[in-house]
Amino acid sequence: MNIDTEAIHAGASHDQYGSVTEPVYRASTFAFRNIAESDERGRKIFSGEGGAYIYTRLGNPTNAALERRIAALEQAEDCVVTASGIGAVSTVMWTFLKAGDHVLADTALYGDTHGLMEHVLTKFGVEVTFVDFGNHGLVRNSLRPATAIVYFESPCNPTLKVNDIADIARLVHDINRDIRIVIDNTFATPYLQNPLTLGADIVVHSMTKYMGGHSDVLGGCILGSRADMTQVRTTGIEMATGAVAAPDNAFLVLRGLATLPVRMARHCENAAKIADYLAASPFVAKVHYPGLASLSGHEVARKQMRLFGGMISFELNATFAQTKEFVDRLNLVRLAVSLGGVESLLEHPASMTHAHFTPEELAAADITPSQVRLSVGIENVEDIIADLEQALQAALG
Ligand SMILES: *Cc1c(COP(=O)(O)O)cnc(C)c1O
Repeated sequence: MNIDTEAIHAGASHDQYGSVTEPVYRASTFAFRNIAESDERGRKIFSGEGGAYIYTRLGNPTNAALERRIAALEQAEDCVVTASGIGAVSTVMWTFLKAGDHVLADTALYGDTHGLMEHVLTKFGVEVTFVDFGNHGLVRNSLRPATAIVYFESPCNPTLKVNDIADIARLVHDINRDIRIVIDNTFATPYLQNPLTLGADIVVHSMTKYMGGHSDVLGGCILGSRADMTQVRTTGIEMATGAVAAPDNAFLVLRGLATLPVRMARHCENAAKIADYLAASPFVAKVHYPGLASLSGHEVARKQMRLFGGMISFELNATFAQTKEFVDRLNLVRLAVSLGGVESLLEHPASMTHAHFTPEELAAADITPSQVRLSVGIENVEDIIADLEQALQAALG
């Protein structure tokens, strides 16, 4: 069926009472009638067959309903939901890496993903190299015999750089089919792009963002082959991270997912109009939005995305102090990290998420002092534009 329908119905459990929503199983443990049943449930879990429950760290029926739904949306064999997006990223790393392995990652990464790779994995004998994935020759030349994971995002945070998923997957797998290509698909969501169909092996999401969609829940998920997801469940989650999603949170994400297609369509429509407005503003020096033909990744975005997303970053014709003044003058658009909720949020990387970067590190990450990142909400677009305009006039007029 179409994704709009699957977001509402895929994998529904249809309980014996006819509940049209998924029951929430607030249970840590599930009793057996006898030892034989305990054996049988263990066999189902460890073989990857699923549908059996022992203890919620190994699986829970509410979480499983969410896993079936997301697997359908991402066209994946299987899915594991986690407590947060970083819970998903770290669980993938703890499942598939060992001392002596090498990870090749893009320079443009979510901050704590970068931190996990640079400061945590390296303590356990894993080597990590960061290169610009816009340069495919550099990606090819940076692969090593020990490379186990190639990791990137698209569009990237916070610069909206677009990476060509199919081209990178092909060049890596042509050299070594055993390397797992892992993609963080949080910015695009399964509605806009399905990396597994473009050659990726594993997809991770922060469900905290668009999938939950209402800024009221933390969550993450991991998608891929049944064999890989069984390993993620029985090694990564069960033993390594314990980053289990709470069933109540799984319920909230199921509720959010039902409206993901309509929300995304509106996020994208609003963002396209705001990108055009910003591109025409004398106060704005540069707009980064995959839907603008001027963005270098626009053609790749057209090829791999259904629409261009709800995230925009833009640089003002302003000093650092004037940029902060603009941010402080916003009323409707609220100043906050995170993204993907129904409400518009703006953050200033140079003084917030990336304040600890040196000027050299900011330059390497393509972040300028006058750059802000806008998560376009689903409010009336005229109201969002009016707020941006009054703040630009007040700070720069
Ligand atoms: C927010 C985010 C994460 C981390 O997710 P949490 O749910 O906050 O742990 C990872 N990747 C991207 C692209 C994100 O935006």
